[in-house]
Amino acid sequence: MSLETETKKPAVVFVLGGPGSGKGTQCANIVRDFGFVHLSAGDLLRTEMNSGSQNGDMISTMIKNGEIVPSIVTVKLLKNAINDHPKKNFLVDGFPRNEENNKSWEDNMTNVVDTKFVLFFDCPEEVMTERLLKRGEHSGRSDDNLESIKKRFNTFNIQTMAVIEHYGKQNKVEKVNSNRDPKDVYTDVKSIFKKYFGTY
Ligand code: ADP
Ligand code: C5P
Ligand code: MG
Repeated sequence: MSLETETKKPAVVFVLGGPGSGKGTQCANIVRDFGFVHLSAGDLLRTEMNSGSQNGDMISTMIKNGEIVPSIVTVKLLKNAINDHPKKNFLVDGFPRNEENNKSWEDNMTNVVDTKFVLFFDCPEEVMTERLLKRGEHSGRSDDNLESIKKRFNTFNIQTMAVIEHYGKQNKVEKVNSNRDPKDVYTDVKSIFKKYFGTY
């Protein structure tokens, strides 16, 4: 084995966009075609919340209010999940949501993984609101209601956009208009992944 092969770190793509922009939907396509492992920070937090963890009440309150859970919790969940899948590449969906998430990732994960770029789904709030209210009819999520959705948009606009802009300055953002048919969105996503990862 060459030295390069031995030391190659798993690739990570951050997947960001407003709530309801289609992150989870598109990640499923990438998993199918490019063999990535999908790690949704929100899903990991919901699982932790339901597991009887001592952080459960805090996570529950923060999710309902669209607030960002302290990174000490979220990065640990992500790190454990990454360690569960040796030799895989990862879509880290819904992370980093703020500067603190990003700093904690840099401090804890830079030696472990190779963070390639941010896939950013851009979609108008009216469209995302409609999608989330429809999802809320069946999702059982405490935050798919108008009051929580407004708070989530506020958090996204103030905290998450700053992180996206930070990566944009390093030319590490691939922006896709997700206000289209999911198949058309994926056509663009697929060509981005082909550009970076070839094989498919
Ligand atoms: P996110 O993970 O960004 O919150 P999801 O992938 O869960 O978004 O999508 C939110 C809702 O919108 C889901 O009910 C999903 O089926 C729907 N959806 C996703 N992408 C599209 C699209 N391009 N057009 C219409 N509806 C979509
Ligand atoms: O991505 P998703 O919509 O599933 O996230 C749901 C909620 O989980 C967020 O609104 C936030 O409260 C919490 N979350 C977080 N930190 C992250 C990702 C999600 O606190 N990095
Ligand atoms: Mg999602």
